[in-house]
Amino acid sequence: MTDTLAPVKARKLLIDGEPVDAASGRTYQTINPATETPICDVAEAGVEDVDRAVQAAHRAFHDGPWSRMRAADRQRILWKLGDLILEHADELGRLETMDNGKTIVESAKIDAPMAANCFHYYSGWTTKLAGETRPFNPAFFTYTLREPLGVVGAIIPWNMSMVMLGWKCAPALAAGNTVVLKPAELTPLTALRIGELALEAGLPPGVLNVIPGPGAVAGEALVRHPLVAKISFTGSTVVGQHIMRESAATLKKLTLELGGKSPNIVFADADLAAAVKGAASGIFYGKGEVCSAGSRLLVQSDIHDAFVEKLVDRANKLVPGDPMNPKTRLGALVSEKQMNTVLGYIATGKKEGARLVAGGERQPVDGKGFFVQATVLDDVRNDMKVAQEEIFGPVLSVIRFDDVEDAIAKANDIAYGLAAGVWTNDVKKAHTVAGRLQAGTVWVNTYNFYDVVMPFGGYKGSGFGRDLGAEAMDEYTQVKSVWINVE
Ligand code: NDP
Repeated sequence: MTDTLAPVKARKLLIDGEPVDAASGRTYQTINPATETPICDVAEAGVEDVDRAVQAAHRAFHDGPWSRMRAADRQRILWKLGDLILEHADELGRLETMDNGKTIVESAKIDAPMAANCFHYYSGWTTKLAGETRPFNPAFFTYTLREPLGVVGAIIPWNMSMVMLGWKCAPALAAGNTVVLKPAELTPLTALRIGELALEAGLPPGVLNVIPGPGAVAGEALVRHPLVAKISFTGSTVVGQHIMRESAATLKKLTLELGGKSPNIVFADADLAAAVKGAASGIFYGKGEVCSAGSRLLVQSDIHDAFVEKLVDRANKLVPGDPMNPKTRLGALVSEKQMNTVLGYIATGKKEGARLVAGGERQPVDGKGFFVQATVLDDVRNDMKVAQEEIFGPVLSVIRFDDVEDAIAKANDIAYGLAAGVWTNDVKKAHTVAGRLQAGTVWVNTYNFYDVVMPFGGYKGSGFGRDLGAEAMDEYTQVKSVWINVE
């Protein structure tokens, strides 16, 4: 196993443009889940540090140049940050792979460019935000202004640190807000490095502060802080619900993206070779630690047996390997805890009557690491735990359906509504089913495609608000109506 490169230096919090120790002096070790060895010490933010970061962001918003800067200057800085992320994609990729266990291909070739793309795209929005004149009475000149909110608290998960940072910080900053970013305690390294790159790009001190620390302490303090205008969160439903309750006291605006249990529906008339590939990558990409993973595979009964046979063949070929090796396609789960959760779900599925047809075990690489085999559970009923709960690992639950109505009913019979896939060669069926699925994103004859121009977010229990696209700019701005008496 490649145990990384040069040693990674200890990391401090990034507050007001400076690397600083936690006020308590506390640090923790971040662990490489593929080797089970510590990567480096990281300063651990507590309540006092959150306050320092929020005060810095508040000063930067009210007294600093960012929100009042010429839009074209903000644009240049955000574009430059996108360039710097691309220039450092290999370094950032290695950091992310060490911290998270995902493959180097995913972190250096997909996540880092996707984060860069967010800064490039939203830099363009700085000069496109506009209000409107609304002429309705000659006695008044009336118009609207789109204004930033103030301090945005961004709380992101461990599965896609760079991508989530880009999704949240780029539109928030483009709109003129300042940000306090709390990355997940498990994966703080790329967020801290991108914070440094932001300063190099010319972002004024205090505009982007990065404070890793435990969610229950640092995250909680950010949510409760009266100077924070908005929380943009991606993570579990339970924490999302908690954040919603806690932010009521200070009436914060919220964007909540809360995961899913997305149906990937294969009709008998689909291109089956493409659908097998899409079903496998839909769940095994990112080791299944992906909010939009196609974790419920709905297969039409007529083709079920043949389809599952091909799928199992594919799953068996996808073996865990050294995440630093560019040929590896299945990395390590993020932590021992997450691995045990996933293995626990596999055991539950078997107990509930599902049939294990591929994988199912921990499979260390060179004797180490939190790796789990690509796993397929067949004969799953939609009311089983493994069909209803987010497992967040490389585990696919296969469910049969009979016809279009049955497929739609089963697909929608779930608390979540983040994404869905449809595989069919019948264009009418594709449109009908896409229209009736309760999901924020529907992919037809493809899966897990993203672009910064296309909004992303949930229906039902998957949360509300939208990341990406023009829609994200609405999440980070507010509208002011101005009336000028001209009589
Ligand atoms: P969490 O929802 O706990 O973590 C997401 C973020 O929220 C992290 O930065 C976390 O901090 C922070 N957080 C935790 N508690 C609080 C709190 N009380 N107030 C404010 N912020 C808080 O997810 P987990 O890491 O615990 O993962 C558990 C499950 O959640 C997974 O198995 C998966 O099913 C789901 N999940 C879904 C994701 C998605 O993309 N929708 C992403 C990640 C997980 P910290 O981690 O530092 O404690």
